[in-house]
Amino acid sequence: MRLLLVEDDATLGTQLQLSLKKAGFAVDLSSDGVDAETLGEIEPYDLVVLDLGLPMKSGLEVLGNWRKRGNQVPVLILTARGSWQEKVEGFKAGADDYVSKPFQIDELLARINAILKRSTASIAGSITFKNITLDEDSQELILKNGIRHNLTGTEFRLLRYFMLHPKQLLSKSKLTEHVYEYDEDKDSNVIEVYVNRLRQIIGANLIKTRRGQGYIFGSND
Ligand code: CA
Repeated sequence: MRLLLVEDDATLGTQLQLSLKKAGFAVDLSSDGVDAETLGEIEPYDLVVLDLGLPMKSGLEVLGNWRKRGNQVPVLILTARGSWQEKVEGFKAGADDYVSKPFQIDELLARINAILKRSTASIAGSITFKNITLDEDSQELILKNGIRHNLTGTEFRLLRYFMLHPKQLLSKSKLTEHVYEYDEDKDSNVIEVYVNRLRQIIGANLIKTRRGQGYIFGSND
């Protein structure tokens, strides 16, 4: 899962980026409204964490412009404490949820995970598909015999993306965009290497190759 974090407070932004990375997300950080609006238009984020008070262009304006152009990326806004007006305006502009500053990182993570999972069957802290469970807190994979496997950051992000999008054809380039950050070297051939590593752990049948098109996770055919 790849997130855009928009926060102009450099200290808070860097801290949040680090915490979100530790939680297994690829995170791009933007510190002004104009840059954020452009990134949100050109990059396929899974979710945006958007501060409202930003230089150049306010968060509300950025969000409103995305929605006007049909961009439905899930957006969680960061509001000033006690400002019910900001919350109301945020929801009117198309926000999916909010967290009031100051907040605990655990609350932010819980709300992010809730938004990301609204459309998928999963319980807090883990994702299960058939016999395998992904523990999001420890970033481990649990097989049906109870054996736990440690995953690297990239393996975890890739498998989580597969598990949240079962039975969908996912191209290598799409997977690359959702697993890596903006400034990382995005070599889509590397996805093949990671897919093969995951197959060795979870079994070759769970990730099928569609030649020339990409991969399908968890399909029956
Ligand atoms: Ca701010």
